Amino acid sequence: MSEKILIVEDEPALQETLTYNLSRQGYQVETAGDGQTALRLAREGQPDLIVLDIMLPVLDGFEVCRILRQEMNTPILMLTARDDEIDRVIGLELGADDYITKPFSMREFLARVKAQLRRVRLIREEIDSESVLPKEVIRFGNLTLDLTRREVLLNDRPIALKPKEFDLLLFLARHRGQVLTRELILERVWGWDFSGGSRTVDVHVRWLREKIEENPADPKRIITVRGTGYRFEG
Ligand code: CA
Repeated sequence: MSEKILIVEDEPALQETLTYNLSRQGYQVETAGDGQTALRLAREGQPDLIVLDIMLPVLDGFEVCRILRQEMNTPILMLTARDDEIDRVIGLELGADDYITKPFSMREFLARVKAQLRRVRLIREEIDSESVLPKEVIRFGNLTLDLTRREVLLNDRPIALKPKEFDLLLFLARHRGQVLTRELILERVWGWDFSGGSRTVDVHVRWLREKIEENPADPKRIITVRGTGYRFEG
């Protein structure tokens, strides 16, 4: 079955262009012209990807993104128009998976859409293949990663991780003891054509440390390798 994409964009011409091009690629497309409708369609339709404009009537894209992130893991590709919006998308704990700045070419847009959908497919396949194996859980002392439930426990208590924080922790944990460059982490966790830059990795590492390190200022699990990247120690 073809993948379903929800487009949230209030400019009729752009909404129409995106819909036309995505439909032509074989995707099922739903559209919303304001934030409230976007929330309703996302909840009812369970799309595989949400393309979300920021300046929207009723409820803006920032608010929609924040609300959706608490409810679902669906990848969100933000459409930004201004530099200050980009800063907020990257800097805030919004949970958007990628963004693209207006005006953009259709070719670039379609590449981003495909990259996000491919990433989600890979994660799903990985989780599916792991769920048939007996080893569904990775333990590091009092830290437990439950892969099938995508849940992390610290001292047997679940801690709230955003989807990207979980993906990052899982990637680090799977490569325990190895020095991982920011570029490699970006490519493997965010996708090779994510445009956010390596600062995104640092920000997520900082959030993770606050959640899984006893003393985030003196981390024992996610170690900074000066000038290079990070190394995970169980
Ligand atoms: Ca708009």
